[in-house]
Order: sequence, then C-alpha cells, then structure tokens
Amino acid sequence: MKEELNCPNCGAPIIGPRCPFCGTMFYDFADLEVGKFGYLRIKIKDNILIVKAVLEDITVDYGYFDTVDMQLGFHAVKIESKERVKNE
Ligand SMILES: [Zn+2]
Repeated sequence: MKEELNCPNCGAPIIGPRCPFCGTMFYDFADLEVGKFGYLRIKIKDNILIVKAVLEDITVDYGYFDTVDMQLGFHAVKIESKERVKNE
C-alpha cells in the first residue's frame, strides 16, 4: 500500500504531482535508484517529451541552517515521444 503523503506547504493530502488545494508542486523522488532507468515527462521549449533516462548520480550536501544542495543527474537514452505544446 502506498503511504499517504501530505502537502508540506498546506498539509492537504496529495495524490498526484501537484497539491489539489494550494497548487504547490510535489516531486516525489523516493523511489529513484542510481543506475536504473525510467521515463521522464518534461517540457523543453515548445515541446513535451517523454524520455527514457537513467539516473546516473544523486549528490546531496547538507549545509548550515538546514540548507541542502542537491543535484540529480539523468542520462537520456531515447526520446520516446515528442508533442508540441498547444499555444492558447
Ligand atoms: Zn498544498
């Protein structure tokens, strides 16, 4: 069973990538593993791409005053699909 998550900003239950109450984005990377591939859906300029990518590196440096410098490194293997964003 998937654990229930709450928005860190307002406390409302979160199901998808965005809090339904306050609109805050929530990126859940808890299942990422270095060396494993997955698919990313990402907007680049006027296109939305679905990319097969391998997570190559996670670097986390804890600083003073509860600051964290975090970097995620993905290597894109293949573009699975490309869709032009509709301008309204
Ligand atoms: Zn919220």
